[in-house]
Amino acid sequence: MPDPHLEALLSCLRFPSVSTDPDHRADVRACASWLVGQLSDGGFQATLHETPGHPVIIAKGPFQPGRPRVVIYGHYDVQPADPIELWTKTPDPFSPVIIDEVIYARGATDNKGQLMAHLRGALALLAAERDLPVNLTFLFEGEEEVGSPSLAPFLHQHRDELACDVIAVSDTGMVAPGLGTLTYGLRGIAAIELTVHGPAQDLHSGVWGGTVRNPASALSHLLASLHQPDGSIAVEGFYEGVTPLASWEREAWAKLPGGDADTLALTGSSELFGEPGYSALERRWARPTAEINGLTSGFQGKGSKTIIPAKASAKLTFRLVPGQDPDHIQQLVINHFQRYLPSGLSLELHAGHTGSPYQLDPHGPFGKAAQLALADTFSQPPALIREGGSIPIVQSFREILGVDTLLLGLALPDCNIHAPDENFPVANFNAGIQLHANLLRRIAQV
Ligand SMILES: [Zn+2]
Repeated sequence: MPDPHLEALLSCLRFPSVSTDPDHRADVRACASWLVGQLSDGGFQATLHETPGHPVIIAKGPFQPGRPRVVIYGHYDVQPADPIELWTKTPDPFSPVIIDEVIYARGATDNKGQLMAHLRGALALLAAERDLPVNLTFLFEGEEEVGSPSLAPFLHQHRDELACDVIAVSDTGMVAPGLGTLTYGLRGIAAIELTVHGPAQDLHSGVWGGTVRNPASALSHLLASLHQPDGSIAVEGFYEGVTPLASWEREAWAKLPGGDADTLALTGSSELFGEPGYSALERRWARPTAEINGLTSGFQGKGSKTIIPAKASAKLTFRLVPGQDPDHIQQLVINHFQRYLPSGLSLELHAGHTGSPYQLDPHGPFGKAAQLALADTFSQPPALIREGGSIPIVQSFREILGVDTLLLGLALPDCNIHAPDENFPVANFNAGIQLHANLLRRIAQV
């Protein structure tokens, strides 16, 4: 007999809900309407809300005053399937196939597999018990893969409807198969663009070389001044207030896969480099960085062209950790460049986008509930990790709704999200359904 949970997931995967492509606009909407139907048929009050972009769904389960209020967020839009010719398991990424108990399709892991695990888990629980242990609200958006432009305004408009005690999201990774993973920290970000201006126009380097400063040389000096030779950051005040790693984190992370040896293999590098005194995982997850993302100046075509360029520019981002404020860091870096700019040049600075670092106490009441739910589901204590990247929606939830987010990811390291042959093991889908029930049960006990 076909498994109704799996059948539902496969139906969801058949919608080519590619949010970035205007040709798929109707498919994105069709997927949203289908989800509303699933939720309504299963006993939820589900509403499709229009936005300037793709629809947002709010669905509410049975309500009883006094119970914890939980919002579960997911996104039903997906990345484009291109390049389709590189998919080896199915000729059509929107015709899912199951091979050796692994589902192959665009969206299988990111995020339909994980979203549907929560949805099916809730419907199964509601069907069996005619109630849920918490006041549950689903929030599903269709614009995550294009940066969630409508979500923050939507959260403002629907703040009362979405008022809750905690949010749970399954859209992050597991460190290894069968090892439940709670992500309790994310780094923040601060972007800066700088341009060093010198002579009024490019100059002949033979005629004028040796008489005026070269902006490309000056930019090189400025960029080099960001770091000490050992890899630590030399900007004055940069590390002030940084929350140090807890000793339990260092002990726990030392035992995780993905350490120094794996980092060398995964990056294809011959040597690790970075702030001394920290492992690769510690540097990625809990230490701030300064990176040059791009730099340009002068002639870059074939052959040579003997000039002193009129200007030189670079794009930088700083990854930030708890205890650092992105606006303050931008100011410190601007001060640093202004102080070290050689005379005879001018500096143009643009403070770019920012995002605050995020951290939840994994040993607080909701963190503990999440740990217990993961242990119930995977029959071993979960890995407690942070991640090096940023997830802006998590920051929006904290800023607009004033609540923390539990990140309980089900994505495996080889799930190929955003790539050909995206996949999700049936076992992870079933574990996700169990995790949903365990999570609600454990949160109800908080
Ligand atoms: Zn994605």
